[in-house]
Amino acid sequence: MLLGADFIDIELKAMPVFSAKMQDNKPNYCKVIVSNHNFETTPSADILVSLFKEIISSGADIVKIVTTAESITDVWKLFQILAISQVPTIALAMGEHGLISRLLCPKYGGFLTFGSLASGKESASGQPTLSDMRNAYGLQHVNKQTKVYGIIGKPVGHSKSPFIHNAAFRKVGHDGIYVPFLVDNVKDFLNVYNTSDFAGFSVTIPHKETALECCDEVDPLAKAIGAINTIVKRRNDGKLIGYNTDCEGAISAIEDGLRGMISSTGGSPLMGRYFVVTGAGGAGKALAYGAKDRGAKVFIANRNYDRAKSLADSLGGEALSLDQLNAFCPVNGMILANTTSLGMHPNISETPIAKDALRNYSLVFDAVYTPRYTRLLREAEECGAIVVSGLEMFIRQAMMQFSLFTGLNAPEQVMREKMASTSSYL
Ligand code: NAP
Repeated sequence: MLLGADFIDIELKAMPVFSAKMQDNKPNYCKVIVSNHNFETTPSADILVSLFKEIISSGADIVKIVTTAESITDVWKLFQILAISQVPTIALAMGEHGLISRLLCPKYGGFLTFGSLASGKESASGQPTLSDMRNAYGLQHVNKQTKVYGIIGKPVGHSKSPFIHNAAFRKVGHDGIYVPFLVDNVKDFLNVYNTSDFAGFSVTIPHKETALECCDEVDPLAKAIGAINTIVKRRNDGKLIGYNTDCEGAISAIEDGLRGMISSTGGSPLMGRYFVVTGAGGAGKALAYGAKDRGAKVFIANRNYDRAKSLADSLGGEALSLDQLNAFCPVNGMILANTTSLGMHPNISETPIAKDALRNYSLVFDAVYTPRYTRLLREAEECGAIVVSGLEMFIRQAMMQFSLFTGLNAPEQVMREKMASTSSYL
């Protein structure tokens, strides 16, 4: 302070010593940030309010409360401190669950937020890099009116969706920020973050099924699939509406692949085709229902046969075990859609079907998109099939989400470029 610092940061416990030493000699140019750090937990809202008052009465120019978030709902308590504060306040939560306290700081009027100079150089856990704060999230554009969107998942730190959606928002001038929400319990999360500021959510593993139960209304196809990947907060009544853009994203990519191969007759090129889905999890259900919806004859092959049977029965298809797949050839020119995680990084040598059997397929789609060209796609191409990458599904489901969130057409080129530039596996 005596050397001319504009701000100094003093821990609350040290304030009595500091005040006694200064004895009203604090220079006017210097502002004192009084901090309290809790490295274990985030106390109750009442305790935080008492702490806030104690910090003000200690002589703080700026209040700083830092807690440790044990769940994302802890962060809401800090946003409430910022909402009631009449003095400049910093309220942040450490840890992975606390990331949104750092990213939504300008939205809630926080005095400042911290960014690290590089990944691995964080001064506290959960700090994003300054570069990501400015270039990926665009914090410099965030204000009190900015709408909040994000991806609900666990884990969620690896997701490329924030990079793609934030770039798209900025391209069309939409006042929104898209953040990762590390969520343990979807119901609790949606109950707490229920204001109109939180306008839309993407949903990923493991919450796609539970999130459906939390919606007020669900699109009929998503209801049949039993899983959603998108929630939109309806503007006029705040109701949560669930959609499944995974399904349309994948099916439209496969249809476009087929259209490049055969002359289009107007309807879906999937009508009447034999469509084999490997896998019976979330993506498997979306692909199977989507293909059935377009009039295809659907077969499900899964490692766990009972799961295949149950999915096949629910949509009027037929079940196979994964072991039967290599010998399965009722007709030539079938369509294969892999929705198992076989072949996904780092297990890139895995594949769900023998190369020879791929000669029975005219188009092969792989939901796995890390790497972009999986072993399955490479071998299918060598056997003469048209191949469609899971990246195409990913981009399309994100573009549809963008339109559901904003009511605008998605800026496709920007989203594709962002995806390509942020993925190291492509
Ligand atoms: P999920 O619900 O957990 O289902 C996983 C499926 O993979 C199940 O059918 C499971 O079979 C099967 N499987 C897992 N390990 C296997 C193995 N070693 N051998 C044979 N089968 C195996 O997951 P999901 O959400 O459907 O995702 C599946 C894949 O699709 C993932 O790679 C994911 O990244 C990808 N995906 C991509 C997009 C996109 O936009 N491109 C979107 C969603 C998902 P059992 O039933 O026998 O366990």
